[in-house]
Amino acid sequence: MAGTGAAGVPALSRSVVDRAAGHRPDEDFLSTRWADPTSRVLVLEDGAAAVTDGAEGAELVLLSPAAAPPGLRLFLGVEGDTAYWAVAGPLPLPRALGVRRAGLRDVGALLDDRHAGLFVHAVALANWHDTHTHCPRCGAPTESGHGGHLRICTRDGSTHFPRTDPAVIMLVYDGGDDCVLGRQASWPPRRYSTLAGFVEPGESAEQAVAREVAEEAGLAVTDVRYRSSQPWPFPASLMLGFTARALGRAITVETSELEDARWFRRSELAEAVADHRVLLPPPVSIAYRLITEWLGSTATS
Ligand SMILES: [Zn+2]
Repeated sequence: MAGTGAAGVPALSRSVVDRAAGHRPDEDFLSTRWADPTSRVLVLEDGAAAVTDGAEGAELVLLSPAAAPPGLRLFLGVEGDTAYWAVAGPLPLPRALGVRRAGLRDVGALLDDRHAGLFVHAVALANWHDTHTHCPRCGAPTESGHGGHLRICTRDGSTHFPRTDPAVIMLVYDGGDDCVLGRQASWPPRRYSTLAGFVEPGESAEQAVAREVAEEAGLAVTDVRYRSSQPWPFPASLMLGFTARALGRAITVETSELEDARWFRRSELAEAVADHRVLLPPPVSIAYRLITEWLGSTATS
């Protein structure tokens, strides 16, 4: 597998390409690089890309600008002499064997660092454009600028930057060998995962952890500790991963959010995962990372 990160970086937090933000306002730079046949373009259609599978994992199909469909151009950055872009349009799916349509959630952990970083950047930016077509101040249409990294109101000239919604995700444990996992009714049978929720306006990430755990499982927590983060552009989240220590044992499940939440002993969970009585979230998720870190080794899912 190319991706979940021997170096310890979450699958969707990997990148190689320099975002080159300083070049975004430079229209001459952007047009010159778009005209350069060595530039590489990732085509996105409804959040999916064309990929090929190989022995080392998966690879994105990248096109020259001339071969890319017309559409909104997103400047993703440069690496060495190569500029990278994304364009929204129909996927290049030649009849050649091995090219398939794939979403970031499906293939993110299978891509190498370069392609994982390009795909997540492109999806996050494209999702923002899709839902910010009009000015939040006056309602007039907005248009893309700076290589797709801002939108400008066509009436009042106000500029609007891409938004990211912070969310917390937390492995709650008792300070010893027991942790709390829950499941939503909509998930595949037997899947259990960490508790999670959005950070509310005017709230710190640590406050959000404590509030969400209290709301979803009826537990008070302390020792809220940051672990790692990764973008989760479905459609616009940044997942902030934490551990937190529960102050009690009595769980009260908030059934509007969760179908079940319960304590798992470390050894019991490892065995249940090994023989598929419990399914963990996908390896691309930070939840998987928090759980397997706590288990002390990479479990098979
Ligand atoms: Zn406006």
